[in-house]
Amino acid sequence: MADWRTLSVRINSVAPSATLAVDSKAKAMKASGIDVIGFGAGEPDFPTPDYVVQAAVDACRDPRNHRYTPTAGLPELRRAIADKTLRDSGFAVDPSQVLVTNGGKQAVYETFQVLLDPGDEVIIPAPYWTSYPEAVKLADGVPVPVFAGAERGFEPRVEALEAARTPRTKAVILNSPSNPTGAIWSADTVRSIGLWALEHGIWVVSDEIYEHLHYDDAVTSYVGSLVPEVRDRLVILNGVAKTYAMTGWRVGWMVAPDALTSAAVKLQSHLTSNVSNVPQRAAIAAVSGSLEAVHAMREAFDRRRRLIVHALNGIDGVDCPTPKGAFYAFADVSGLLGRPVGPDGSVAESSAALAALLLDEAHVAAVPGEAFGAPGYLRFSYALADADLVEGMRRFADWASR
Ligand code: PLP
Repeated sequence: MADWRTLSVRINSVAPSATLAVDSKAKAMKASGIDVIGFGAGEPDFPTPDYVVQAAVDACRDPRNHRYTPTAGLPELRRAIADKTLRDSGFAVDPSQVLVTNGGKQAVYETFQVLLDPGDEVIIPAPYWTSYPEAVKLADGVPVPVFAGAERGFEPRVEALEAARTPRTKAVILNSPSNPTGAIWSADTVRSIGLWALEHGIWVVSDEIYEHLHYDDAVTSYVGSLVPEVRDRLVILNGVAKTYAMTGWRVGWMVAPDALTSAAVKLQSHLTSNVSNVPQRAAIAAVSGSLEAVHAMREAFDRRRRLIVHALNGIDGVDCPTPKGAFYAFADVSGLLGRPVGPDGSVAESSAALAALLLDEAHVAAVPGEAFGAPGYLRFSYALADADLVEGMRRFADWASR
């Protein structure tokens, strides 16, 4: 007889989101009156553009939007997403291939629920976004991380992916621009992974949520454009959160071959039904509007990127490559481990311990590399005000040098 006190093996095997955990601890400290500088959260600090908010206000007042929408999303939004895919990724998709989800995160979850059988493997280039392995495990799949370090710009080599391939390999994840490293993989790397996946009948799951956040001469490469033949087994994951400063609105999507999209619609029909109608209306305004707002945010992020990389590299024991995309700096802090830091001369043996000390003693929140399959690193989101960024870096530097 099953023991009623025992929760499922599946949920017990899953780790909570480390990024959300750091963020909520920092927020709790703030609520108790402690002045914490938060580099933890992966969200733009800008308000959502006015015209997007206005579309939601108008939608609220229209009783048509007080109802369910089709599970897959409003037809106008699915059309707008198909048009946006053509504009940005450079190839045509049909609106029937689009499923609107509660944030990109739900699209990640549903993708693996419909793709994986127990024991199927997913190759995940590391450092990876913290939710990928957990979403794979929630589908009874097996995450297979393949690490690429800072010396190669965090870009995976196809030979390393090939070495990890087995007869159970079902999918590989691409995430460029990357969370947590801010790396942008070269077109050659993206193309070669696409060709390799095609050759071996592997699904490509391409998370393009940071596509418009790139700096210097770097640009986002789209695997579906570089390797058109892969589109039969390509799932694009995306959303409005990062491009339009809309993390709280919870609108994301997947674009996939019809059979996969229909399966995910079936799943979602039993899970959450449709995304809230009003945010879908706001998303139509966002996705079909211009990219002016993200270009303005990009300028601010670019300035902060330079500031933070300079500040981090000025700290003895810290080494931070210059990220080319997203809004994260991923710093190697191994030089601070195993030696006294902070006013009490505390010693951290891991980046997780270092992040905990940094938060408790210097009131600076950063996410430890362990959450991303990369111990020895800390991730700093630089989506915060310039003055806070400077103050946070001053605290980190003072704390580390004591
Ligand atoms: N993919 C990546 C790489 C992310 O960093 C995030 C959010 O942090 C998401 C997907 C999901 O974003 P959301 O669920 O807020 O749309």
